[in-house]
Amino acid sequence: MTQTIRLPITLDGSTGEGGGQILRTGLALSMVTGQPLHIQHIRAKRPKPGLMRQHLACVQAAQAVCGGQAQGADLGSKTLQFTPGPVLAGDYRFQIATAGSCLLVLQTVLPALMLADGESCVQLSGGTHNPMAPPFDFLERAFAPLLRGLGVGLGLSLARRGFYPAGGGEVQARITPAAQPLTPFNVLERGPLQNAWGEALAPGLPCGVATRELAALGQRMGWTFEANQLRTPISRQNEGPGNALLATLEHAHVTEVFCLLGERRLSSEQVARKLTDEVRSYQRSTGALGPHLADQWMLPLALAVWRSGQAARYTCSEVTQHTATNALTIAQCLPLCVQTVSVDKAMLVEIAPAPQVTYR
Ligand code: ATP
Repeated sequence: MTQTIRLPITLDGSTGEGGGQILRTGLALSMVTGQPLHIQHIRAKRPKPGLMRQHLACVQAAQAVCGGQAQGADLGSKTLQFTPGPVLAGDYRFQIATAGSCLLVLQTVLPALMLADGESCVQLSGGTHNPMAPPFDFLERAFAPLLRGLGVGLGLSLARRGFYPAGGGEVQARITPAAQPLTPFNVLERGPLQNAWGEALAPGLPCGVATRELAALGQRMGWTFEANQLRTPISRQNEGPGNALLATLEHAHVTEVFCLLGERRLSSEQVARKLTDEVRSYQRSTGALGPHLADQWMLPLALAVWRSGQAARYTCSEVTQHTATNALTIAQCLPLCVQTVSVDKAMLVEIAPAPQVTYR
């Protein structure tokens, strides 16, 4: 009987930005390649290093979808040994007791499930609009359409929003693997602007919060209530209290969603100003993707490049430390080169198969 021994992926969680993305990307690629993952110094550069509840939820979700074994999967743990099993498509439910982002849990298992041998339905509960995590609207409007371009089906529905600190949001994701091998594609230009609007979510807060945020956003962006460019989406019962101000820019080739969460110490006008600054910074660049989409698109595209053997590129407004760290992690786990170069008013990211070394 022959036994395949897979060399482990060994990651140092203090590399680059030293945050939770190294763990999430490592878990995702361990499941996809079948290689065990050894990771140490988990989230070493965060104020509270080690596995927090949200990261533990990612490990547990990874275990669930592939029957994986984990050592060190405890709160505060700084090392983890994860041994994946075969990924199983199916119905899953993942719950984060705190307001930790359930969308980061989804992004941990998505790469494995999108390459599985059947459709999966993932029910998630936890935070849907969290600090330092993609909000639901971003995933739905900006990220999912790009993924569909690879041939993968990702249907998302939001039953209830969950804000920090209460959480309690409910999301459903239906993931349909591509019928054909994944096909990588370039996203070099965003294309002409087709639609742009702002939204204020403020469930459980005085209605003046949303109105003032929208008025300030409208003034800065030149958007009006009359043209339906300033909106207050309906809140479901018991969603709040919480506040998020969103700006969506729908271009011909890419949609970007910018989101700023309200905080007690920020006035509505300050929230609108900070959000506008983010939008303007994107608009000053010619990059197709904004800073967050640039780091999140890297992993699915890398999988398509790896599977197809064809290189692909995209432009973005900036390469954040988060993106640079994700590039390093991906290149450590897959036989790929990820390069970033500055081009006119943008950054270009190229992912290509690593040249094969031959020994004579
Ligand atoms: P931690 O160690 O605390 O888990 P992390 O390194 O995992 O931190 P962040 O750097 O804060 O987490 O980012 C997590 C992910 O959330 C990144 O992919 C980032 O692009 C994404 N993200 C953060 N804010 C936004 C936003 N406003 N819109 C879209 N995506 C966002």
